[in-house]
Amino acid sequence: MVVTHTLEGLLPTDVLGRQDPELAEILIGELDRQSTTLQLIAAENFTSPAVLAALGSPLANKYAEGYPGARHHGGCEIVDVAERIAVERTKALFGAEHANVQSHSGSSAVLAAYAALLRPGDTVLAMGLPHGGHLTHGSPANFSGRWFDFVGYGVDPESGLIDYDQVLALARTHRPKAIVCGSISYPRHIDYGAFKDVAEAVGAYLIADAAHPIGLVAGGAAPSPVPYADIVCATTHKVLRGPRGGMLLCGAELAERVDRAVFPFTQGGAQMHTIAAKAVAFGEAATSAFTAYAHQVVVNARALARGLAAEGLAVTTGGTDTHLLTVDPAPLGVDARTARGRLAAAGMVLDTCALPHPDVRGLRLGTAAVTTQGMGEVEMSRIAVLFAEALREERAGREVREEVRDLTGRFPPYPV
Ligand SMILES: *Cc1c(COP(=O)(O)O)cnc(C)c1O
Repeated sequence: MVVTHTLEGLLPTDVLGRQDPELAEILIGELDRQSTTLQLIAAENFTSPAVLAALGSPLANKYAEGYPGARHHGGCEIVDVAERIAVERTKALFGAEHANVQSHSGSSAVLAAYAALLRPGDTVLAMGLPHGGHLTHGSPANFSGRWFDFVGYGVDPESGLIDYDQVLALARTHRPKAIVCGSISYPRHIDYGAFKDVAEAVGAYLIADAAHPIGLVAGGAAPSPVPYADIVCATTHKVLRGPRGGMLLCGAELAERVDRAVFPFTQGGAQMHTIAAKAVAFGEAATSAFTAYAHQVVVNARALARGLAAEGLAVTTGGTDTHLLTVDPAPLGVDARTARGRLAAAGMVLDTCALPHPDVRGLRLGTAAVTTQGMGEVEMSRIAVLFAEALREERAGREVREEVRDLTGRFPPYPV
């Protein structure tokens, strides 16, 4: 393994290297991989060194079941302050009456939202998985599909857009107890007001699973679901750029139900190091630098979409409002799986995803990570060209890989 990075600067001392070189080498190798390839996975980002510092801190040792001021363990007086700060910062950031920052992941936040509002067997209307719904939106392989009766809405196969008339018609027919809006691959803003109208028309709760766009919301670059949804679930590690984890936002009247749904119903002890890291990330997200970042993420995604369209790829909905876009590589004569392999060989890391046309898979890209690295529209245009070159195999993969290494070398995620 040719390693060009060290953990110095990220770790105060090389304790791990001395004690366990085998694992230290893996950490360094992963840092090297992240630093020398392009992270275009729409769900990924680079946290700040400050967030990493909170994660790798003695707060990881603390047991803290319950909530600040009402814990089942002693010695929580200091971590209580960390959680209170995290809650206050996220409430201020999103203008929410209540926040729960204990969810271990986005999926556990969704589980808690269902636990707060539903009973097993209830009907839930959510975006169907073949159209971009998340596993927690009714997959038979997930608790959601086993314990609830999910009905799926889709996107228009031609426009790729949510058909709000179809959502209303399905809601009228199936009378769901809750409606979920949110997706893993929808590139446009969701009309939360339209979903609220449908939910009100049929007496359903509205759950916004804003795992992807919540960071854009924090930076004022996307509309907020908070005024419309009964519960907003989110991750903290996507565009929001915090530690891996989840959170829930709701009004005061659901606060107690949401808290009890997280602990003790679906989780045990809170992870205080992660909660402290969330507080750090929320602090960062409240700065004008983060507002500028969130807007640049969208500018970059649009530039990337334009570049890929110019290279002949079919961009779903013709572009994007957010950090993510999905494309069909078929016009270049490759299917999505082959494309992902060729791109990986060239150092461009991304996922395949569902496309609006049933049974066709595409590629999903996001600009959250490359924007954190400081890349702008010029780099997005270059990435689009490299992307197409790798797909068409018109330049040796090795050459494209070297140019990617060059590009990432000029924009290190963790400058030393
Ligand atoms: C990422 C995501 C989740 C789940 O987050 P995890 O932290 O991976 O559990 C849930 N819903 C949507 C829409 C997502 O995009």
